[in-house]
Amino acid sequence: MKDASNGFGPAPLMTAWNAESQIHLIVGANPVAAARCAKSLEAGAKPIIIAPETADVHFTLSEHISSGSAQWVRREFQDNDLTTLGREEVDRVVDTVFVTLGGSEPLSAHISKLCRRLRIPVNVTDAPELCSFTLLSTYSDGPLHIGITTSGRGCKLASRLRREIAAFLPANLGLAIDRLGSVRRRLWEEDNDAGLGESNMDGEDDDASGQRHTFNTLVTENDASAAKTRRMRWLSQICEYWPLRKLVSITDEDIDAILKAYSSNKEAEPETNGVNGVNGVSKKGKIILAGSGPGHPDMLTRATYNAIQTADIILADKLVPAPVLELIPRRTEVHIARKFPGNADQAQEEFLQMGLAALRKGQSVLRLKQGDPYLYGRGAEEFEFFRDEGYTPVVLPGITSAMSASLFADIPATHRGVSDQVLVCTGTGRKGAAPVPPAYVPTQTVVFLMALHRLSALIESLTTYSAEDSTRTRTLWPKETPCAIVERASCPDQRVVRSTLEHICLAFEEAGSRPPGLLVVGASCHVLHRPAQGQKWVIEEGFHGLDGLHRELDAPISLIEEK
Ligand code: SAH
Repeated sequence: MKDASNGFGPAPLMTAWNAESQIHLIVGANPVAAARCAKSLEAGAKPIIIAPETADVHFTLSEHISSGSAQWVRREFQDNDLTTLGREEVDRVVDTVFVTLGGSEPLSAHISKLCRRLRIPVNVTDAPELCSFTLLSTYSDGPLHIGITTSGRGCKLASRLRREIAAFLPANLGLAIDRLGSVRRRLWEEDNDAGLGESNMDGEDDDASGQRHTFNTLVTENDASAAKTRRMRWLSQICEYWPLRKLVSITDEDIDAILKAYSSNKEAEPETNGVNGVNGVSKKGKIILAGSGPGHPDMLTRATYNAIQTADIILADKLVPAPVLELIPRRTEVHIARKFPGNADQAQEEFLQMGLAALRKGQSVLRLKQGDPYLYGRGAEEFEFFRDEGYTPVVLPGITSAMSASLFADIPATHRGVSDQVLVCTGTGRKGAAPVPPAYVPTQTVVFLMALHRLSALIESLTTYSAEDSTRTRTLWPKETPCAIVERASCPDQRVVRSTLEHICLAFEEAGSRPPGLLVVGASCHVLHRPAQGQKWVIEEGFHGLDGLHRELDAPISLIEEK
């Protein structure tokens, strides 16, 4: 199993602590003490400074003391300060201690030891071995807080990373998070009042919970209660898929309009803008149906890239990744499919009508799909629709995830002596039914798309006969067959879980899902990565193979020392 630290020691448990009204003891009055005091106040805590009358008190500290926001106990530290200066409701034990005297001062080690014994979190400046916690380099924007640690390797680098990450975020992200948070609460309350979604908010307040693996489960059309909670799903999905740039520009009016459209059981009317296709049409619209590749923007073909740059209107699937959408010029009208389990058909229809309306206006429409448009993308249905309306699309292929995900995971789909054929199939049949599992062919690599939400049922169907299968003629896949789950292939947060049919479900349960992802099965999975003896699975995080392929625009920097 993977060591989360990659050999750099255990990872710190990073948490967001509610320190409101807590008592923070700060030993010392130097500039570091002033910084600690400021942090405590930011967190709503009550700092108490311990330093003798004679101490040289940093001026911002004096300001806090004279304004009454910090208290100064004018003497040396005493052991019983830890158990007498705290809040009454916790028996006067202080909540947190910051020692700013430095590690070589014997008092620092003494206080650290006492604190550990009393289970009081303690931080000693410049002495990691005396700390039970360290502070993060942080960036805040409203309710958003980002913290960075280099585990003591370099605080300069940590603050540089913080700056660069912050620079990457769009302005007003904090406001947008706040707005979406209140929509979420409103939906939850409305659904609750209507007696629908008693558990929709479960665990979601904890940012670490991410997405449940049942998230993409198909909802059948007659599953009424699931259909009613689709507004909540819509919200979850725009949070997951919309580019940040677009999320921050969402307004209260936008939200109201969308919620209204979703509040009744019928879907929103397609936005046809009243175009009737007759008046004033001078040029004929054209439509391109293109694939955008597996995820990384560098996987776009030049043809698709050019189509993105020249389209008047772009209709993109939800799965088209944000970095690809970022390439769309600002002036271009973009719509992202409101497709989610249970409303795929309506969303598809809405999109087709939107495309048609634009074509009748004489616009050039780009229908952008993920991967390749004809591989599980309903591409041919759309082709037919537009052709029947008199607009035959130009179809541009895209790099399909079915072939590229395995490649990015170092799995050769064919390999001499191991695999001489490849089968691409879906793990989900029509209307969510289970498809017929393929029979075992030892020299075949099988790629299952749309399969991870029902992984255990799929693996079971590959390795055992179902009760209904009375013929039992299909050859079953041996449990030792190598396999791999590849998620977010080609993206920086790509993840690969390598295992065998026997253990893959457990491994995936442990890893949690990171959609979109697919399953590769067959001996080819072990050509370039053989597991160590006794290892049941391996989890590999991240992919940066496409980084650094651009020519550096900046000239090299050399530092010349001033004489
Ligand atoms: N037309 C697309 C496939 C659409 S079906 C293509 O050619 O790639 C959607 C499925 O594609 C997902 O359920 C997942 O199984 C797979 N998929 C899409 N992008 C992926 C990616 N970057 N990594 C792994 N699987 C992906």
